[in-house]
Amino acid sequence: MFGVLLVLTLKYAPEGIWAFVDRLLPKTPRRVDWQDAAALAQRPKPGVGEVVLQARDLRKTFGGLVAVNAINFEVQAGQIVGLIGPNGAGKSTTFNLITGVLPLSSGQVSFCGQDISNLPSREIAQRGISRTFQHVKMIADMTVLENVALGAHLRGQRGTASAMLRLDRHEEQSLLREAELQLRRVGMGDSLHELAGNLAMGPQRLLEIARALCGDPALLLLDEPAAGLRHQEKQALIGVLRQLKSEGLSILLVEHDMDLVMDISDRIVVMEFGTRLIEGTPEEIQASPAVRAAYLGTEH
Ligand code: ADP
Ligand code: MG
Repeated sequence: MFGVLLVLTLKYAPEGIWAFVDRLLPKTPRRVDWQDAAALAQRPKPGVGEVVLQARDLRKTFGGLVAVNAINFEVQAGQIVGLIGPNGAGKSTTFNLITGVLPLSSGQVSFCGQDISNLPSREIAQRGISRTFQHVKMIADMTVLENVALGAHLRGQRGTASAMLRLDRHEEQSLLREAELQLRRVGMGDSLHELAGNLAMGPQRLLEIARALCGDPALLLLDEPAAGLRHQEKQALIGVLRQLKSEGLSILLVEHDMDLVMDISDRIVVMEFGTRLIEGTPEEIQASPAVRAAYLGTEH
């Protein structure tokens, strides 16, 4: 009997009884009271042409599988570098190595001249590398603004205890102000108070970018930001990326949409089976027989 009850509860009321009551209660929208909050401090940005990211001989093995091997490339300030390759080539793993989500098996990652290899991901984010994930990660029943504000939490000073006692109101207002600023930057100023779960795919991806921007990054890593987007949403995304680049931000971009990558990248690194097949300008990559072979699966 208990087993049956448990199964029925999990199926029909996974959030418990309170969720039914909560749905009937009137919702009061968040009070907009952060307009005059203090702006968050920004870190100094690297000058144009400065090397922001340098990856040297990155290698990652999972047991016997070599997922990433001898990967070398650099990203300069204000550049968009595309990282492409067939499925399973090791692109996401490379992202995870750079952002400290996975420990390196060997190799070195430098950010603005400092060695950041194997630092904890929190520390790497704090130094100015933000990222988005291949699968959108957000809290569906929080508003767009609240989701984006989460991206700024590392820039806050207050700890858990003062947050629980609600002593951090001023800081919270600063974080919300920053979130609104970044949402406007990506063109989502009109959807601040919408529930994140109600957004279409395009705005969801932009939300993720705004949340990453809240970390005040010098380098942005985007893992397949155009996946699942419709034509117009892609155009909006391209517009945002161009604008960020013109503001001096560096972007490392993993993307399957070749038109998009060729359109906005300054340089492209092609990976295959964990190794670097070729690196060059979009024109050089398009002209390369080796790249065609990697994508079409013919002998080269
Ligand atoms: P891509 O993003 O280019 O499609 P990935 O970096 O996700 O490729 O994967 C590269 C290879 O590493 C694949 O063969 C994948 O199965 C393997 N891989 C990725 N993550 C793990 C993991 N956590 N454990 C074991 N194998 C993994
Ligand atoms: Mg991937």
